[in-house]
Amino acid sequence: RYPSAQTPVTIGALTLPHRVLMGSMHLNRETGDAAALAAFYAERARGGAALIITGGAAVNRVGAGSAGYTLLDDPAHLATWRVVVDAVHEAGGRIALQLFHAGRYAFESSFSLTPVAPSAVHSRFSGAMPLALDEAGIAATIDDFAAGARTAIALGFDGVEVMASEGYLLNQFASPVTNLRDDAWGGDAVRRRAFPLAVTRAVRAAIGSAPLIVRISGADLVPGSSTPEEVDALAVALAGAGADALDVGIGWHEARVPTVQSMVPHGAFTDVSARIRRALARSGAPVPVIAANRINALAQAERVLADGAADLVSMARPFLADPHIVADSFAGRQERVNVCIGCNEACIDRSFGLEPISCTVNPRAGRELEFPLAPQRPRGHRARIAVVGAGPAGMEAARAAAFAGAQVTLFEAAPAIGGQFLLAGAVPGKEDFLQTAQSFERVLDRLDVDVRCGRAVTAADLAGFAHVIIATGVLPRRVDLPGADGPNVIDYAQAFAGLAQLGARIAVIGAGGIAVDLAHLLVEGRPPDGADGSQDRDRFLIENGLRTGILSPPARQVTIMRRSGPIGAGMGMSTRWAAVQAIRRRGVRTLTGVGYHGIEPGGVRIEIDGAAELIAADVVVIAAGQTPRAQLAAQLAERGIAHTLVGGARETAGLNAVAAFEQGLRAGDAA
Ligand code: SF4
Repeated sequence: RYPSAQTPVTIGALTLPHRVLMGSMHLNRETGDAAALAAFYAERARGGAALIITGGAAVNRVGAGSAGYTLLDDPAHLATWRVVVDAVHEAGGRIALQLFHAGRYAFESSFSLTPVAPSAVHSRFSGAMPLALDEAGIAATIDDFAAGARTAIALGFDGVEVMASEGYLLNQFASPVTNLRDDAWGGDAVRRRAFPLAVTRAVRAAIGSAPLIVRISGADLVPGSSTPEEVDALAVALAGAGADALDVGIGWHEARVPTVQSMVPHGAFTDVSARIRRALARSGAPVPVIAANRINALAQAERVLADGAADLVSMARPFLADPHIVADSFAGRQERVNVCIGCNEACIDRSFGLEPISCTVNPRAGRELEFPLAPQRPRGHRARIAVVGAGPAGMEAARAAAFAGAQVTLFEAAPAIGGQFLLAGAVPGKEDFLQTAQSFERVLDRLDVDVRCGRAVTAADLAGFAHVIIATGVLPRRVDLPGADGPNVIDYAQAFAGLAQLGARIAVIGAGGIAVDLAHLLVEGRPPDGADGSQDRDRFLIENGLRTGILSPPARQVTIMRRSGPIGAGMGMSTRWAAVQAIRRRGVRTLTGVGYHGIEPGGVRIEIDGAAELIAADVVVIAAGQTPRAQLAAQLAERGIAHTLVGGARETAGLNAVAAFEQGLRAGDAA
C-alpha cells in the first residue's frame, strides 16, 4: 500500500520512516494549557505523522500574527514547548518548530505594536500600514530568527521550519509588490532574495547540522508578484544557503485565487512543487521538496509522490479531522478515515482570530484531554440512549454516546444518515461532505449503534430509553410574501432534491451560505456519472486565470437576493469571498438591499435602488433561513422522558456545522 509514501526519506540529518508530514497550523492553543497542547500533538504522532511541524512561533513580539502566538523571546512561553516535545517523543514522533514573523500580516492590535515590513505597503488582510524596517531592524530580525532557532533546538525540537510563504515577512521581502526598497534588501529580484537568504544562513549557523526546512511560496497568486523563474531561483538559492528541504506553500492571504477552500480541487497546485523540484534538480544540488494544499487522502499523496511532483507531502487540516489518517491508511483501513472537508470553519477561520481551533467533523481536535480516546468512566452500566436525527449533531452524538459506553439507537427519517451534509455534498467542490456521512456510517457500525433510517419516530417510540438526544435539525423558514404559496415556489431542500426538474431561470429569496451553495450547484449542474474530478480541476484553473480555456456556459440563469446584509453572510472568513466570487464569475446576479413586493407566476417583483423590477424566474426558491424542528421535545416532556436538544433543533441563530458537531459530542459524551 502506498509504496511511494511509505519509502523512508531524509531531511538533512533526520531520517523519516515515510513521506507524509503534519504541516504547520496555528492553533490559538499555543499559549494555553501545555498538557492539552501536548495531548493534541502526541495523538497525531501516534497517528503516524512522519514529522509534525508546529504552528508558527513568533521570533519576536512585533512578528506575532496575533496575541495568540507563542513568543520565542518570552521565557514564559517556552515551558509549554518542553512539555509538547517530550510528549511527542514519548509517542514515538518527531516535531519541528516553525519560526514565524508575520511582517505586515500582523494584526496591529496584537501587542499595540506597529507591524514591520520591507516597505510601508498597506495590507488588505490585516489592515496594517507597516513601518519599513531600517538596517538595524533588519539585522535584529535576522538575529531573532537565529536566536529562535537556537531556542528550538535547545528545547529538544528535531528541527525547524522557517516560514517564508503565504505572504509573511520573508515572502514580503521576496516580492516586488511589498518590497519597494532600492538598497541591499530590494530593488531587483536578486536583492529581494537577500533577506530570506540571510535568515536561512543565520538559522543554519545557529543550529549546526539540525534539520532546516524553509517554507517558500511556490506561487504568490498576487498580481505583479514574483515570477515562476524568480521563485525557482529563490528555491535554488535557499538550498545553497543551507535549507535541507523546501516546503511549498501556495498563495498569500490577500490572493483572490482560492487555495484552501473546498472548491479547490485536490492537488490543484502540485504542478508548482513539481516545477520547483525540477529547478532544484537542474541546479545539481537538489533538496527534498514538500507539496501541500488540498491533499486530504493518502491516495492523493501517493499519486503526487509517484508522479514525481514532490518528495514528501504535507497535510495540516487532514490531521485535525483524523489524527490517525496515516496509521489507518497504511494499515489498509482508509475507509475509517474521517476526511477533512475543506470547510475551514473551525480551523483556518479561527486561526485568523483568537478562538482556539478545532475541527468541524472532529470536535475532539484540541480537546483530547477533555474527551480521551480511552473513556475514563466505568463502562459497566450501558444506558439505553436514543438519538433522533442523523445530521451532523445526531451522528456525532450517537458516536460519542456509544464511545462512552452507552447502548445507542440512532433514528433518522430520511433513507440515509448525513442530514444537511447530503445536500452540501451535491455542491461543486463539496463532494467530500458525502465522505463524512460514509465515515460515520462505518464508525457507528463499529460501535454497534443501531441505526434505523427511513421512518420518523414519535414520542411513543422512545419510551424505555434512559435519555433521548433530539437532533432533528431544521425546517426551511417560510416567508410571508404575496404569492409565496404559489405553485412556482419551493424551498431550498426541495431545490437540492429536485434539481433536474427546475427551469432555466431561478430566483432565490435569501442569500446566505445555503443560497450561495445552491446558486453554485444551479449554474454548474451535477457532474456526469463517472466524472473523475479532472473537469473540476480544469474549470478551477480556467476560472481563476491559471490556465487558458473555454468554460461551458452556466446551466441556468440565477439570481440570489436579500433585504440587507452581505451576500453569503454567515459563511467563514476564508470561504465567503471565494464562493461569492465563483458564482458571480458564473453569471449569478447577487442583489442586496432588496424590497419585496411579491411573487408572481413570472418571477419575483422587487424594488432595488428605488426602482421596481421583475426578477424573471421559472421557479422561485426560498432560502431565507431556518427554524428549529423541535416538536418532539414537547412530546417527550409531556411523557417525562429525559432529553437534550442539539444542533438546529436547539437553536438556529448562529448555528453552523461546527456548533452542531460540538453540541453532539458534548451531549453524547454526557448521556
Ligand atoms: Fe478540515 Fe473543516 Fe476540520 Fe478544518 S474544520 S480540518 S477544513 S474539516
